[in-house]
Amino acid sequence: MNPRQDLHVHSRFSDGADRIEDNVAEAEQLGLTALGCVDHVRAGTDWVPDYVAAVRRIRAETEVELSCGIEAKLLDTSGALDLPEGIEGVDAIYAADHQVPLADGPAHPREVRERIERGELEAGAVIDAILTATARALDRPQRVVIAHFLSILPKLGLAEDAVPPDGLDALAAEAERTGQWIEVSERWRCPSAATLRPFARRGVPIVLSTDSHRRDTIGRYDHCLAVARELGALRT
Ligand SMILES: [Zn+2]
Ligand SMILES: [Zn+2]
Repeated sequence: MNPRQDLHVHSRFSDGADRIEDNVAEAEQLGLTALGCVDHVRAGTDWVPDYVAAVRRIRAETEVELSCGIEAKLLDTSGALDLPEGIEGVDAIYAADHQVPLADGPAHPREVRERIERGELEAGAVIDAILTATARALDRPQRVVIAHFLSILPKLGLAEDAVPPDGLDALAAEAERTGQWIEVSERWRCPSAATLRPFARRGVPIVLSTDSHRRDTIGRYDHCLAVARELGALRT
């Protein structure tokens, strides 16, 4: 786990405050070796080709290793993602739990929480749906990064330790089989070292990211360093 990388940073292409150039300048000042440009997409997004071209242009002007990522929400337990057509040139897809990916589609976390409280849904079944959707989203030709994994659990009134170890290990096994990555997120302060342990054991790359929406939070880590130390995986 390398603290001189930040593999999840937003720009004005979606909801970031700064331009890609500004984010890169910040990374250069901090001495980062790698920066992951990531912006939010959905099925109707039409700017991906312009975004890919912008990252390519800026990549030629910096020593920082730039990757071109898009972040899309998990839709359902088939592993479908809210992606547009025409994403050639994108290096990585960040699969995110922005809504709860149930069998019949994405559900708002507040609604799911209420359904759990009313006894209409079991917490275990909801966790299983999240694990299934995430695992099935991994088998793609592009790099997939599991983004801020389990960040949705607190919104459901659940904690990471409610996730069964065998479910986590099955997801880690699928990440290993498909060669995909998982991030530890400074912004969301998740996942925990305990959640990441099966991934680390299987050699799944764990990348550090801030999910910054402003340049002044890029590359600043606290939670991520604590997790890396706990896993004994901090590269200096
Ligand atoms: Zn996100
Ligand atoms: Zn993000």
